[in-house]
Amino acid sequence: MVQSLTVAVIGAGVAGLCAARELLREGHTVVVFEKSDQIGGTWRYDPRTDSDPIGIDPTREVVHGSLYLSLRTNLPRQLMGFLDYPFPENRENGDPRAFPGHEEVLWFLNKFADDFGIRELIRFNREVLRIERVDGRNDKWIIESKSHDGGGDSLFQEFFQAVVVCSGHFTEPRIAQIPGIEKWSGYQIHSHNYRVPEPFRNQSVVVIGFGPSAFDISRDIATVAKEIHISTRTPNVKTMKLANHDSIWQHPMVKCVSEDGLIVFEDGSSVSADAICFCTGYKYNYPFLNTNGIVTIDDNRVGPLYKHVFPPALAPWLSFIGIFEKGIIFQILELQSKWVARVLSGKVVIPTEKEMTKYVEEYYQKLEKLGIPKHFTHYLHFEEVGYSQWLAEESGLPPADEWRERMYAETIKKVRNMEDGYRDQWDNAYWETIIKSESSHKI
Ligand code: FAD
Repeated sequence: MVQSLTVAVIGAGVAGLCAARELLREGHTVVVFEKSDQIGGTWRYDPRTDSDPIGIDPTREVVHGSLYLSLRTNLPRQLMGFLDYPFPENRENGDPRAFPGHEEVLWFLNKFADDFGIRELIRFNREVLRIERVDGRNDKWIIESKSHDGGGDSLFQEFFQAVVVCSGHFTEPRIAQIPGIEKWSGYQIHSHNYRVPEPFRNQSVVVIGFGPSAFDISRDIATVAKEIHISTRTPNVKTMKLANHDSIWQHPMVKCVSEDGLIVFEDGSSVSADAICFCTGYKYNYPFLNTNGIVTIDDNRVGPLYKHVFPPALAPWLSFIGIFEKGIIFQILELQSKWVARVLSGKVVIPTEKEMTKYVEEYYQKLEKLGIPKHFTHYLHFEEVGYSQWLAEESGLPPADEWRERMYAETIKKVRNMEDGYRDQWDNAYWETIIKSESSHKI
């Protein structure tokens, strides 16, 4: 039987917008709670930063966004859209580059929200403070929210049959533990609070991390700094100056730091630095969610979650969209949303609680066997392609075009190899041929 439910969506970033669109399509009644006054979440550049630049003081004022001013997407524009709503090839009178700037992504998301009537469903300036089951019933949830609309704070309590959590996970910094850091006298900042290079002019800066943010931020800071030293835990990294850069070095992990500003790396090399920028990732954080211990966060594992979405004991009434890491993000958010919306309407059936729990346990065992640490639970390590296809199949959709996964793999190779300038050397003409030839095969 097809059913229509009242559903609360928490957050109006990409995940929340996708969820709202798919829930609407399935005939559900949707309310989106958004603590800020705009849509876009991560893609809303915010020049403000947390009051504690390293983000460890629990009493600090927190800013949601983590974008730096110079950020361009790390996936080409063909992978920054949705399956049935592509990212424009190049915005009218706009940016012809294959990897657009963040402003264009925000523009695209606003257009998406308007084209599908999502804006009207959003309660802006409404921060969700508490989500909890009522009387232990899985199909009745209380949402307590606070309004920050300038007319004084007011508290609201509303009831929904289902809740979809889309609150993002790039706000709470994760910091590397470094012996001696409590006495180190230099400046420390997490990439969450990095915006522009100017504060690092003429400084010697150590950037810890090897992901896309470390790659971009090191190059951004290098435009003004004296020296950049990238430190990574990737095995077999030797201290050396990077080719094509006068002022960027790479090193193995930091071994320790000392009061006089010296930073010592595992291979015995050392530098005297003015600042450390931690590009060491983020922690999941759901301070508003009370499930009486059914859903927990343990070393960055949110669980148990069937397929990174449904906690078996609360499914399908509580779900999470966007917890996974890596992959063609917009596409997967869209597919997760379709799956959740169809499960809630009863068109798609999920396994029993027992079966889902067993699946999760087996998944954890598989990770352990492969030696993948717990904090990588939600990385789509060995299911990048399979996960998207599985979601599509589960939702009764045809698989996404094959060129998408190939284009993704090609981009990731360039990011992993730290290929400088990969965004501007991208051969768009080549990909256009591939895309067109595959489309014509399909016709
Ligand atoms: P978010 O965008 O974080 O949105 C969450 C929303 O929930 C926010 O609007 C927030 O205000 C709201 N919210 C949170 N808590 C509450 C609450 N209690 N009450 C009410 N509202 C709340 N992805 C790509 O595909 N390509 C890229 O190039 C790329 N680059 C990135 C670069 C950086 C620096 C970062 C941090 C991420 C990047 N990503 C990229 C990943 C990016 O996070 C996703 O593309 C996407 O924005 C995730 O959307 P989301 O809706 O899950 O979360």
